[in-house]
Amino acid sequence: METAVHIRIRGQVQGVGFRPFVWRLARDMGLRGSVRNDAEGVWIHAAGGNLNAFAQALREQAPPLARVDRVEVTATPDLPEGEAFTITVTTTGAARTGVTPDAMTCPTCAAEVLDPADRRFAYPFANCTHCGPRFSIVEAIPYDRGSTTMAGFRLCPDCHEEYDDPADRRFHAQPIACPTCGPKAWLEVGGNGRILDTPDPITAAAAHLREGAILAIKGIGGFHLACDARNEKAVTRLRVRKHRPTKPFALMAPDLGTITHHARVSELEAQTLASPAAPIVLLEAAGDTLAPSVAPGQWALGWMLPTSPLHLLLLRAFGGPLVMTSGNLSGEPQAIDNGEARKKLTPFADLFLMHDRPIARRLDDSVARVVAGRVRLLRRARGYAPEALPLPPGLDAAPAVLAHGGLLKSTLCLTREGEALLSHHLGDLDDALTAEEYAKADRDYAALMDHAPEVLAHDLHPDYPSTARAEARARETGLPLEPVQHHHAHVAAVMAENGWPLDGGKVLGVALDGLGWGPDGTVWGGEFLLCDYRDFTRLACLKPVPLPGGGAAQSEPWRNLLAQLDSAGFTEDADRLLAGRPLAPLRAAMAKGVNSPLSSSCGRLFDAVAAALGVGPDKQSHEGEAAMTLEALARPHMDWERLPHYRLFLDGESWLDPSPLWRALLDDLGRGVSRGIVAARFHRGLAESIAETALTLAGTHGARAIALTGGCFQNATLFEAVLMALGGFPTLTHALVPPNDGGLSLGQAVVAGARRVIS
Ligand code: ZN
Ligand code: ZN
Ligand code: FE
Repeated sequence: METAVHIRIRGQVQGVGFRPFVWRLARDMGLRGSVRNDAEGVWIHAAGGNLNAFAQALREQAPPLARVDRVEVTATPDLPEGEAFTITVTTTGAARTGVTPDAMTCPTCAAEVLDPADRRFAYPFANCTHCGPRFSIVEAIPYDRGSTTMAGFRLCPDCHEEYDDPADRRFHAQPIACPTCGPKAWLEVGGNGRILDTPDPITAAAAHLREGAILAIKGIGGFHLACDARNEKAVTRLRVRKHRPTKPFALMAPDLGTITHHARVSELEAQTLASPAAPIVLLEAAGDTLAPSVAPGQWALGWMLPTSPLHLLLLRAFGGPLVMTSGNLSGEPQAIDNGEARKKLTPFADLFLMHDRPIARRLDDSVARVVAGRVRLLRRARGYAPEALPLPPGLDAAPAVLAHGGLLKSTLCLTREGEALLSHHLGDLDDALTAEEYAKADRDYAALMDHAPEVLAHDLHPDYPSTARAEARARETGLPLEPVQHHHAHVAAVMAENGWPLDGGKVLGVALDGLGWGPDGTVWGGEFLLCDYRDFTRLACLKPVPLPGGGAAQSEPWRNLLAQLDSAGFTEDADRLLAGRPLAPLRAAMAKGVNSPLSSSCGRLFDAVAAALGVGPDKQSHEGEAAMTLEALARPHMDWERLPHYRLFLDGESWLDPSPLWRALLDDLGRGVSRGIVAARFHRGLAESIAETALTLAGTHGARAIALTGGCFQNATLFEAVLMALGGFPTLTHALVPPNDGGLSLGQAVVAGARRVIS
């Protein structure tokens, strides 16, 4: 008797050419039956051949953008009708499956748009089942053309033929388009909106860029502002117009070869640049220089390759590197809508390279850096979201959690049935427009994923807008709230990302961070926490010092220098180094504890050292500015072995005291040791002291691994030095989840989930 099977495939299997792959495979293996998408993934009914080999091939030969999580085969007495294998129309149902991330133009599509004989020659919106826009155009699931922003473009007969032919690379490619039927690009003048009469708006835009123009470009997840990266006048003009004095600009190059003229690129970095996610990769500058204002005082530059045919054609026509920065006012979310862009970006841009394919949601460029042989995301957005992360063993039984994240670099996290969906980077919630965007993303994700939370997790900080949103939702719905301490969430995020099991035992978490609310009423940020998912004990921290002026101490590094030197007993040095500053009133306030909360922040220690070296700005224009400058200064001197490094000492078992560090640092400054060497000795000394403390505490308390997390680990120099000093001890580090507050929501979600798993 003939046997038949039902096969359920879960994972990232829609919008990646999975059905035609199944169809071709079934046809080659002589099977009959059918395949379809539904809300749980892909569903197959098959009979008539070697079904075991078929199931195995489904796992092993999946198309490039697919990720197969599970293949479930069940025998069935129902035999498929007919002799052929067919693809059936999508049925709608409860949403269960992931929408896929946007993918960089594949090599085949790139070759087509550069081939004068191809019907898509020079067409900026070419794509296929292996590449193109996805999450940025999806408005509902199941993923079908009708539920994307391509719904309004009716296929021409040629595209229809490709779309219907299972043997074609564009079979059921939902964003399929061509010059006849698809979206169109045009070039318009900023201010008056006049459309330039040119048959080739992209080549015309490139010509304007060569003359120093600033161009607004409608990209995949939003607008960019671009200018010639070798033209100092143009770059400076962009900085002035954007009110962005120093924060490094990202760059886009036509090809890898161009990037290697300006940066050192390892094989892994090259692979990452050219991967479907196509993130910005931070690369060490080397070789030909760019305009000095691109990234003043930085050792690493952020590069990316063209992410769509529009970018590819523009960069080829331009023939060199472009500054490619998000199209927004500093701090605000970038524009995505044509009208909004005209209104907001006209003060910045001379020209607009527009098109008529709507963007369904804002997606910033993702940012990655290779440290210690692994790709580490610092910002997770376009190309990565909304890919789900598996929950660690033991947490699959947890209830559905919605976690609300922090304040800066905010994200949301939804968990359900063994998966965590970490939202894309939503920005800093202290900006009103970003807060609006955050609320929109909250609704958007819930609807797209059909997520019904049972628990609401949030940061302990009472004043975060994300906390307020969780509380408001709890009032509306009656759902329970689960507050999670900031650094416990950081540690839980890195544990979860590494698959640390729920019953895996204690981990020694090292959270080096900016600021996070501590349960003792002080501000934490340099923490050694003995953690499991459910709970933590604070074993030690950097010795707390006041934040003079509260919030002002976050943006003004010199205030932290005053607090550090006074606390370490070097008041005369403070008087000398900070002559001319209003020290007396701040000291009075610190003595009385007025507007001077105590903080163990590691980020503020970096600020203080930068101020001591006179390299930090008076007032930081972006988070981490002083620390980034300090790292750039230290970088070339990190192999300096001849001088002892500054050490911090664990006082008893609770405070890591920086006063010996300050004594050595002041000595060096007095002897005229160069600032680069002082910065390097600080990095090395801090890293070694941190590692030594972590190893001691892990040993004393029987921790089975050391987990490194927090925003300070964006500093590759510190990160590498800590890893080296930890030797071979088992270490958990971030890769797919950012070490900064972008990872907080994942940590909150797993803590809240773990507290509700009965064991
Ligand atoms: Zn393609
Ligand atoms: Zn067409
Ligand atoms: Fe943090």
